[in-house]
Amino acid sequence: MGEVISGKVIAEEIREEIKRSIEDAKDKGYRVPCLVTILVGNDGGSIYYLNNQRKLCEKLGLESKAILLEENIKEEELISLIKKLNEDKTVDGIMLQLPLPKNFNEALVTNSISPEKDVDGLTDYNNGKFYKGQDAFVPCTPRSVLHLIKSTGVDIKGKNAVVIGRSNIVGKPVAQLLLNENATITICHSKTQNIKEVCKNADIIVVAIGRPLFLDDSFVKEGAIVIDVGTSSVDGKITGDVDFEKVINKSGHLTPVPGGVGAVTTTLLLKNTCEAWEKNVY
Ligand code: NAP
Repeated sequence: MGEVISGKVIAEEIREEIKRSIEDAKDKGYRVPCLVTILVGNDGGSIYYLNNQRKLCEKLGLESKAILLEENIKEEELISLIKKLNEDKTVDGIMLQLPLPKNFNEALVTNSISPEKDVDGLTDYNNGKFYKGQDAFVPCTPRSVLHLIKSTGVDIKGKNAVVIGRSNIVGKPVAQLLLNENATITICHSKTQNIKEVCKNADIIVVAIGRPLFLDDSFVKEGAIVIDVGTSSVDGKITGDVDFEKVINKSGHLTPVPGGVGAVTTTLLLKNTCEAWEKNVY
């Protein structure tokens, strides 16, 4: 039976680190980090996410501000607001909740965030640096995936890693992060033939497709690390892309859903904010 990788436990460890660094800075007389989140429209799921994020900021000692904007706000107004936040020396991180309503040019808006405050790794600038292997803010979900894999203590170097899914926010950056760690990468997608055969050779499998229970034990090599990024709602229950009950008996390590990747993601957003803040205050 494989080990369950607990995102909750790992998130708690990162939270302790964040708390300590803020308390230390406060003792030295520095201001605390500040994260500003912008939400356009009133999507219930996004509001729930923002509330949780705000509560976590409070718990760890970060200042947080949520800017909730009407769906009919003009694109120029949104960009001008972001530019003001870019100039504001008391703001360290800016997070824009995506997707924006359809009438917005999402690339234009996200790229108006200053790269130094782009703690969610949305801008082309940070993306370009990241794919060139330079120091940059990386989107938090892929960062969470890597963190969970590393938490197993298994050396990633030289391992065969299969990433299922090739989106810009999850699949591609996960593959790049694993490549940076010297794994050998195969990326699968909806047009890939024989995914099962490809997966059977993998030491590490990351599934990010949004297809509930897609991956069962017949895809998995004995002892492999399996990371489930999928979050679909099935009968009102958050369900991953992996059939946990079947895969846990064959894998070496497996993340649950919920309580796996998602549990670490928000904490890493706050960690990125602290990294931006440290550059500003020290
Ligand atoms: P996305 O943009 O819809 O991309 C899905 C990817 O999966 C695409 O590359 C698609 O291939 C591929 N795909 C779909 N069906 C497939 C199949 N049957 N076999 C192989 N590949 C298939 O989704 P996303 O934004 O990357 O998100 C993926 C999942 O992760 C979703 O469930 C999402 O809710 C979840 N998620 C979780 C977190 C978290 O923090 N836990 C964060 C972000 C996303 P093509 O490119 O060929 O279409």
